[in-house]
Amino acid sequence: MNNFDLIVVGGGPGGIFTAITAAERGFKVALLEKNKRIGNKILIAGSGKCNLTHTGKPKEFFDKYGKNGKFLKDSLNRYSPEMLKNFFRENGLPLVLVEETGKYFPETFSSLDVVELLKKKMLSLNIEIMVSTKIEKIQKKLGIFSIFTDRGVYNCDNLVLATGGKSYPEVGTTGDGYVIAKEFGHKIIPPKPALTPIYVRDYIFQELSGISFQNVRVAIWRENKKIIEKNGAVLLTHTNFSGPAILDNSRFVENGSQLEINYVGKEYVDLNKELIEETNRNGKKTIKKFLAQYFLPERFVKTILSVVNVDGELKLAELSREKRESLIKLLTSNRMEITKVGGFEVAMVTRGGVSLDEVNSKTLESKKLERLYLVGEILDIDGDTGGYNIQAACSMGVLAGKSMGRKERE
Ligand SMILES: Cc1cc2nc3c(=O)[nH]c(=O)nc-3n(C[C@H](O)[C@H](O)[C@H](O)COP(=O)(O)OP(=O)(O)OC[C@H]3O[C@@H](n4cnc5c(N)ncnc54)[C@H](O)[C@@H]3O)c2cc1C
Repeated sequence: MNNFDLIVVGGGPGGIFTAITAAERGFKVALLEKNKRIGNKILIAGSGKCNLTHTGKPKEFFDKYGKNGKFLKDSLNRYSPEMLKNFFRENGLPLVLVEETGKYFPETFSSLDVVELLKKKMLSLNIEIMVSTKIEKIQKKLGIFSIFTDRGVYNCDNLVLATGGKSYPEVGTTGDGYVIAKEFGHKIIPPKPALTPIYVRDYIFQELSGISFQNVRVAIWRENKKIIEKNGAVLLTHTNFSGPAILDNSRFVENGSQLEINYVGKEYVDLNKELIEETNRNGKKTIKKFLAQYFLPERFVKTILSVVNVDGELKLAELSREKRESLIKLLTSNRMEITKVGGFEVAMVTRGGVSLDEVNSKTLESKKLERLYLVGEILDIDGDTGGYNIQAACSMGVLAGKSMGRKERE
């Protein structure tokens, strides 16, 4: 009774889509989840609205995962964003596009509806969902995996580790899968928090908490080299920079990195030229009035001007060259030393994890142990905000579920 063709450990999107895919192929499947319910991360995704995927073709997705994106080629080609959308439509919960961001959400904007749908689908396929089940040990003998849990021992021919990463440990992702994978001989790339706020030395915006910019240019620099640059929204909090463009860039922060923000979307030379031309045309105009044309929040302008020690009522003609240059530099390339990024408790994903070298990207089977599969965030792969991480987990789940073989039973 406790024997299965497949046991999936971890009830996140990766594990759930593996289980569904294999069960649709006739596999006898069990899914083990240590929490009281499945899909805890789905429930908090997109602030409870669940941003499941993004616009774009699979090939436009690859670079959203950085240098490891090519590992996802087979997963995303085999199970594209279009197919994920079809899945939800066919199962009664169509996804809708939010045009401004390119993000797809369930039409009800409810993560709970997504989890309920997935649970219903699994039950309809006779997948045994075992929640509150804690794994104590896993071993493989004579081609059979035995999973020892606090509720008994379960055996299977195929085992999937879909235990996620280490971020948001309070929802169950405490890195357990790394320990199991390591015991099976896998190399673990040290896990680090990603999609997380960035802290800088001498942060000047403590008083501006809540102010956001819709589309600014954010870059990470190291050793005088630009590592990455992304456009998007930035949120000022009372201690750090946050918002999608910051979270996406946080994936590239290492020791000695600097954060650069361009708040006006213009190069230094262009803004400098505009200011000089305006000074020549209308020298009596105040600095405050000149800056108003760039739609910067008033309190932000006040702070920036106080940093460069310029009174907003000062006339353009009275602005010294030195102050003009400092002001423009601050607006177009505010470069700051990064002191740290937010920890695992606030990071939305984990960078690092099971090394991709030892996993077959065409099947997601371990190269270390036959019939062991690894899917989702447990692997050394993470993507930008916008639905890329859930899509990746689902696509990997489907690929693994389609790739594994079923042993003949007597
Ligand atoms: C606040 C927040 C918001 C997010 N929003 C989005 C979003 O809108 N869009 C998006 O694409 N991505 C989002 N993400 C990221 C996304 O949720 C994850 O990348 C994705 O869920 C990873 O899927 P997974 O199946 O690999 O692992 P997870 O979803 O992390 O699931 C792993 C499961 O394994 C279980 N588990 C762990 N160890 C064991 C064990 N020993 N035994 C049994 N079970 C175990 C865990 O309890 C967990 O349920 C968000 C993340 C966070 C934290």
